[in-house]
Amino acid sequence: MADLLITGGLVVTCEKDVLSGQIIPDGAVAVRGTKILEVGGTAELVAKYNKLPRSIDASGCIVMPGFIITHTHMPYVLGHNMPVDFSQLQSFWDMLQKMGWEWLEDITTGEGIYAASRYAAVKMLKSGTTTVCEMVEGPNALPGALSHSTRAIEEVGLRAQVGFEVTERIPGVSILEKMDPARAEKGFLENLELLERYPAKGEGRIQGRLGVHTAYTNSPETLKAARKFADQQGCGIQIHVAEIPRAFLVEKYGKSAPQVLEETGLLGTDVLAVHCIDVDDEDLDILERNGVKVAHTPMTNSLGGNGVARVPEMLERGINVSLGHDCFFTLDTSEYIRYAYLLHKAHNANPMLLPPFQALDLVLGNAARALGLEERIGSLSPGKRADILIIRPDSPTPIAPASAISYFTMTFLGREVETVLVDGQVVVEKGRMRTVDEEEVLQNCQEEAKKLWRKNGIDV
Ligand SMILES: [Zn+2]
Repeated sequence: MADLLITGGLVVTCEKDVLSGQIIPDGAVAVRGTKILEVGGTAELVAKYNKLPRSIDASGCIVMPGFIITHTHMPYVLGHNMPVDFSQLQSFWDMLQKMGWEWLEDITTGEGIYAASRYAAVKMLKSGTTTVCEMVEGPNALPGALSHSTRAIEEVGLRAQVGFEVTERIPGVSILEKMDPARAEKGFLENLELLERYPAKGEGRIQGRLGVHTAYTNSPETLKAARKFADQQGCGIQIHVAEIPRAFLVEKYGKSAPQVLEETGLLGTDVLAVHCIDVDDEDLDILERNGVKVAHTPMTNSLGGNGVARVPEMLERGINVSLGHDCFFTLDTSEYIRYAYLLHKAHNANPMLLPPFQALDLVLGNAARALGLEERIGSLSPGKRADILIIRPDSPTPIAPASAISYFTMTFLGREVETVLVDGQVVVEKGRMRTVDEEEVLQNCQEEAKKLWRKNGIDV
């Protein structure tokens, strides 16, 4: 017996993928507990599951699986709109060292992580993101950074894989001068404690996934230790790869990041490689033969002037590409889908690249596979978790089976997401959070942002 029935919507199943998925006019989804029980026509499911305690009328709406964003740093929200001296940011290297490390991560506190993560989780859920892969960064918030992060995520009700970045970087010291393997040890310990609470293959909404910062902020020994750790824990790895010019790695090791990572044995099908911008053909071969999953983050890559990842070629090769966003800009999924959809057409002067269904797959099936959760999320199918969006399109034209997919790249905005379920629980209802007090979350985030900004000498 079902305990919730969503009726009367245009049901976009995305099973097995967006292109082959069924689109059912006047469709319905039956939910039992945390899972989807059945997907079909409204008349059929109403007849079968009558007298239910709960039902949602989705007339005029699209009913579809929740979006999955495979790379986030929720505490970065505290740096949104921060009035810093932008003249100091003349290269990506400056941005990483100053904006990323000095002005944000190195002065992030546990309270800041909690406040920013709650805010980010709320914003993402309200615009349709039901699952994220979160890498927490903040070397001076150890130990305990992840307990602040997971407390926030749990309160809001998002699904997440979470890890802390393992890095040998010493706050305030150039990585070219000195690194400290003992710092990496602290990071491993933080991940280990998380995995004890949230096992990698656990049934709950939160799972552990080892975070590793990069190949250039860790020694080969630490990278080898990361693979051993992941094997012992049965968890995946998330790591930034080739977001800086390859020359940096080549100068340091005489090799590219994918080469270093392959030689240390870190790569595997459980690795989520974030960015992958400055890669040559040989690097792509390495990613492909190791079954590495790529998280594409086009908006932050553009901000840093880092170039454009070779996503159409990766997809052509069968490399699994999903979408991440670093939490650097808005937390509205629609912006990232649209940017990815447009960027590769412009960059390659080819309007045929990344058609709407493929852009949408980056946040659905591809993203579920990237996290090893393809049996659990990414489509509306019996037995999968009931992570469901009810979207009321604000469209000047009819949204019908023939137009439903291009709607997501053409006019969809996150605010059109009306109701959101995670694990069968209504977490957003008619555009309002059901799990937390949004005003209090906002106030708390602003207070923590002020504290952080003041550390940067900003009078606020
Ligand atoms: Zn990142």
